[in-house]
Amino acid sequence: MAGNITFTMIKPTAMKKGYMGNIIAKIIEGGFKIKALKMTKMSKEEAMEFYAVHKERPFYNGLTDFMSSGPIIAAVLEKEDAVKAYRDFIGATNPENAAEGTIRALYGTSIEANAVHGSDSDENAIIESSFFFSKREWV
Ligand code: ATP
Ligand code: MG
Repeated sequence: MAGNITFTMIKPTAMKKGYMGNIIAKIIEGGFKIKALKMTKMSKEEAMEFYAVHKERPFYNGLTDFMSSGPIIAAVLEKEDAVKAYRDFIGATNPENAAEGTIRALYGTSIEANAVHGSDSDENAIIESSFFFSKREWV
């Protein structure tokens, strides 16, 4: 059975461009309930750990530089079938291919600076949420 939790981050470029409020409002309008939320900044080492699954990919070094380059928002979201619902809601990895009206189409800048992260499985949603939040920080 699909789980009800996913994890998201608002990436540094979207933060710098001032899209934080619009993106959070859109997430709420989309029917996702915010279970935990914080603004923080990852170190290069933390970004490397978070994205360890991609360490063999050619974009790993650039991605982890980028994700540690400025403040981000991290959040745990709840909705029925949350992982798939949120991936559909944010759109394709490359904003150029993202469906109209999705977060990446509206607020993405490039394939790397694509506005938001979304977990790709129930298991990773829990791992990623636990990376940023202690159980006490979930409501
Ligand atoms: P995310 O995991 O951030 O939700 P995703 O699941 O759509 O995105 P992944 O394949 O997991 O995409 O890639 C993780 C992140 O790595 C992407 O969101 C993007 O920022 C970056 N990325 C992916 N492909 C490329 C690429 N070809 N060039 C540069 N960066 C890339
Ligand atoms: Mg992914």
